[in-house]
Amino acid sequence: MYAQVALPIPLDRTFTYEVPHGWNVVPGHRVLVRFRGKVRTGFIVEVSDSPPSVDVSPILDVMDPEPVLPEDVLHLTRWVAEYYLCSWGDAIKAAVPSGLFRESRREVRSKVLDPEASARKLEGPRLGTVRVRTVRLRVPKEELDLRLAELEARAPRQAECLRVLWERGGEVRLSELEGRWRIGRDSVRRLQAKGLVDLVEEEVVRDPFAEVRGDPPDGSPLTSHQEEALRVVQEALEGGFYRTVLLWGVTGSGKTRVYLEAMDRALSLGKGAIVLVPEISLTPQTVRRFKGWFGEQVAVLHSGLSEGERYDAWRMVREGTRRIVIGARSAVFAPVPDLGLIVVDEEHETTYKQYDTSPRYNAKDVAVVRMKMSKGVAILGSATPSLESYYNALKGKFVLVRLPERIRGRPLPEVEVVDMRVGAKERWPFSDLLLEKVRERLERREKVILLQNRRGYAAFVQCPNCGHVFRCPRCRVSLTYHAAGRNLVCHYCGFRRKAPSSCPNCGGLHLRPRGLGTERVEEALERSFPEAEVVRMDLDTTGRKGAHWRLLDRFWSEGDVLLGTQMVAKGLDYPEVTFVGVVSADVCLSLPDFRAGERTFQLLTQVAGRTGRGDLPGEVVIQTCSPEERAIRFAVNHDFEGYAEEELRERKALGYPPFKRLLLVKFRGKDEAEVRKVAEMYGEALKGDGIEVLGPVEAPLGRLRGYFRWQVLLKGDHVSLHRAWAKADGRLRPEARRREVTVVPDMDPVGML
Ligand code: ADP
Ligand code: ZN
Repeated sequence: MYAQVALPIPLDRTFTYEVPHGWNVVPGHRVLVRFRGKVRTGFIVEVSDSPPSVDVSPILDVMDPEPVLPEDVLHLTRWVAEYYLCSWGDAIKAAVPSGLFRESRREVRSKVLDPEASARKLEGPRLGTVRVRTVRLRVPKEELDLRLAELEARAPRQAECLRVLWERGGEVRLSELEGRWRIGRDSVRRLQAKGLVDLVEEEVVRDPFAEVRGDPPDGSPLTSHQEEALRVVQEALEGGFYRTVLLWGVTGSGKTRVYLEAMDRALSLGKGAIVLVPEISLTPQTVRRFKGWFGEQVAVLHSGLSEGERYDAWRMVREGTRRIVIGARSAVFAPVPDLGLIVVDEEHETTYKQYDTSPRYNAKDVAVVRMKMSKGVAILGSATPSLESYYNALKGKFVLVRLPERIRGRPLPEVEVVDMRVGAKERWPFSDLLLEKVRERLERREKVILLQNRRGYAAFVQCPNCGHVFRCPRCRVSLTYHAAGRNLVCHYCGFRRKAPSSCPNCGGLHLRPRGLGTERVEEALERSFPEAEVVRMDLDTTGRKGAHWRLLDRFWSEGDVLLGTQMVAKGLDYPEVTFVGVVSADVCLSLPDFRAGERTFQLLTQVAGRTGRGDLPGEVVIQTCSPEERAIRFAVNHDFEGYAEEELRERKALGYPPFKRLLLVKFRGKDEAEVRKVAEMYGEALKGDGIEVLGPVEAPLGRLRGYFRWQVLLKGDHVSLHRAWAKADGRLRPEARRREVTVVPDMDPVGML
């Protein structure tokens, strides 16, 4: 027998290995193989008995008794690889817990402990740590079999321990061994003395969702719109056919209730469900509701889990013990048996797109494809659907269901725009109107949310004398001034230096902060309202474990003002919030991206939706220097339809999504001339029928972390794009490699940076 094995390397093919006689393997099995002199983890994707024409080496080991990947997920990863132009192995890697791909344990541990890496990934709730002791298998399968045979008769508990370890992927917590399998500590010690297992103590983050009780199901009758949404979902669930429902409901219209009811119905039909949320740590209230309805049936997959916990949760899903999965992006691949429903909450969010590593997939689109393959239902929910989804609904590819009103007829908040170009500047960054609204709330003991979508103190620091701006030596972007610690920080690569007291260019002594970050807003707020309790929430205050929740708790119990970046715009449901202020809507508008307007509209609508959720009505003030911008004009009236109509017209004229698809090809290297050369060669080779080639141009961040970056943007339909890419890349890849330039295709890119 021979097996095709997918490896997580950027080579677009699988590799043939011989299956040793008597081994029973099927597609989905995780194996060890030797590849270019190294032992690597791969996945069997195909088994056949026709021998290859060349000599092949044997599979070294099978890592699990059961295939790790079920057939439907294996199938899905293949689609991901083809569509997002990466290797099948890379796609599989995204679909399984990272621990399953470990090359060596030491390497994994150093990755986990890398503080920079964890600082970059701040998506998980981080609540306190606990020390746990884990038992790890030290020997490979063949030796294990020998030792098992020896131990079986003389020390059955030790044999049992080895077997449990093997079946559980090689590592189990000591407490679990004791509690669940009644394997005593001395059995483990003896195995340790024989060199068969390791006992390691490590610090892990306590799972903050493990004990969440959650709110009980809501017994109130559904609104007629909710009923209609459920009818559309149930029809497909019962009929066993594919359907995608775009649930477009204003903030507070009861979308989450629809998700819960839909999942309930899926469960009663014997099907499992997945819920994707943009960021778990920002939506604790949502998670609590799901836990309350479905209790033990829920597995919450989040980045706060240790590798072992993640693997355990994943196994319980795979075995069907947990029928409901809640998680961020990668949960779309969860191996739920008989999956009938995937809910994508806040479907317009950019966090669903993985943009920094291969595969550069969008979980929302993968969800739709997965349901199409498995004849299930996808629900995409949002108050501000992405124009792609909205257009699909207009064309009839998705079923559009609207929830046009808030629950109990609560009005949407009144929105006012303040033109910051006129009027008094002395109270900058606040207008008189905004100050007055905040003062009213403080007097009435109601709560306020303020959005300023840039962290740090100032946008940049400039010398008024010579105009010198401090820039990152690696990225060329201007450095942001952080008042705490008086640092200049690069928000792209993390470079930091102490702010100098004089200009390095002209020696001027009056360096001035320009622009506005959350720290500076906080300072101004304290000046105007010294007695107010201000809670600041941005990447800098949420770095520590559990910080998100502590900050939200503080705001909830004693805070007056929650001030922060886009984090404060998402999913929060506090009835006492009666005022939302947007300090500057211009931050987001000015990004070099054709979606900057759409993003601004979404952000403004989302943050406005945080108010007026209780019995008290809400008000919103948006400060801007460009009140005539489309995003702002329509956000004032909560008019998504009007916004979409104008924006779609423009997209059509310019040939942007959803009318054309984009493929962004990125080039990166240490030598600028070579990067440029390779970009030009690809730009030329990518030309073809039905394709428009933009560039090559220097990327908006032309230099990042010491690399020079160029890009080519292609517009076309996806078939021509794939064809052009295959042709060009097939021919030019060796050339790019020779010139030490990395070439990365990004299908359906979400950011142009
Ligand atoms: P969304 O997800 O659209 O923001 P939610 O589902 O969170 O809306 O609903 C907003 C509020 O209304 C929640 O407090 C929820 O419990 C309540 N709610 C939802 N549906 C109903 C209903 N049919 N009757 C009464 N209250 C409801
Ligand atoms: Zn930098």
